[in-house]
Amino acid sequence: IKKVGVLTSGGDSPGMNAAIRSVVRTCAYHNIECIGIYRGYQGMIEGDFKEMGPRSVNNIVNKGGTILKSARSLEFKTPEGRKKAHENLVKAGIDAFVVIGGDGSFTGGLLFNSEYNFPIMGIPGTIDNDIFGTSHTLGYDTALNTVVDCIDKIRDTASSHNRLFFVEVMGRDAGHIALNAGIGAGAEEILIPEEDLGLDRLLESLQKSKASGKSSSIVVIAEGDKIGKNVFELKDYVEANLPEYDVRVSVLGHMQRGGSPSCFDRVLASRLGVRAVESLLEGKSNYMVGLQNDKVTLTPLEQAIKGKSEIDRELLRVSEIMST
Ligand code: ADP
Repeated sequence: IKKVGVLTSGGDSPGMNAAIRSVVRTCAYHNIECIGIYRGYQGMIEGDFKEMGPRSVNNIVNKGGTILKSARSLEFKTPEGRKKAHENLVKAGIDAFVVIGGDGSFTGGLLFNSEYNFPIMGIPGTIDNDIFGTSHTLGYDTALNTVVDCIDKIRDTASSHNRLFFVEVMGRDAGHIALNAGIGAGAEEILIPEEDLGLDRLLESLQKSKASGKSSSIVVIAEGDKIGKNVFELKDYVEANLPEYDVRVSVLGHMQRGGSPSCFDRVLASRLGVRAVESLLEGKSNYMVGLQNDKVTLTPLEQAIKGKSEIDRELLRVSEIMST
């Protein structure tokens, strides 16, 4: 392998730049060329490439977003689109690529590999932490810190007015952000898709919390929660059943995807980038690099896509005890 491409694809997350920097510099360290592929698979189809030397990634370790831009490409889902992408890679002399993204990006990469036998490695980049084979995805730790910071601020106003706040956080179908940030920020209740608390139990818990002398409360709700109501319907429901509560809703939204990456995410990105490139140089392909028990590991992409990243049951119990 003489020339490695690197792209960011799908939803962006803090730490992607640090991972790009790591891939670029690991290539330079091993005296091989590195090519930045802009706008994910769409840029691959359009041949939007740029050579990247070690100095081209100065001062980005601390930046959110991705300097290579990200995109969702419908064309890459077609055989014609992937054929164009392959032609461009061959023309540019690229003989392997590292894709930083989520399970959709890995699915596309794996399909591409099966058609063209093209060596690829995946780095999990998403704030949702919903990928099997790694305890942390890039951007997750930063998002947790952002959410905790926001909830701390919401708590100030909640306690000044004796209010109940419903805070909706991201996570797609996973409750990792809600559960961990909820515990970190001291939420009374945490509603996640993996665990159906039920409306009755929510009301009961809120009543208990009021009776125990708490004057304000924070409930953290994962966007994919399956309680059967969206966060605004939930507010109406609780106000109708517990008239003593004045409920406010705060949907944190895209701020959770931005910002300067935490130290944890920067270190993780650096480690994963090194391992991804060095694995390609060892002749490996179709793996995702991840973190397990604080060690960098390789998981077959197929498993990473199919497997489910489980919620830690211990955290559910801790959360319950903390709301006593
Ligand atoms: P994420 O990587 O964050 O899960 P997406 O699901 O949007 O994000 O996937 C990113 C890109 O990966 C898509 O825009 C598409 O180009 C490619 N991709 C996703 N699924 C497939 C698939 N089944 N076949 C080919 N390409 C795919």
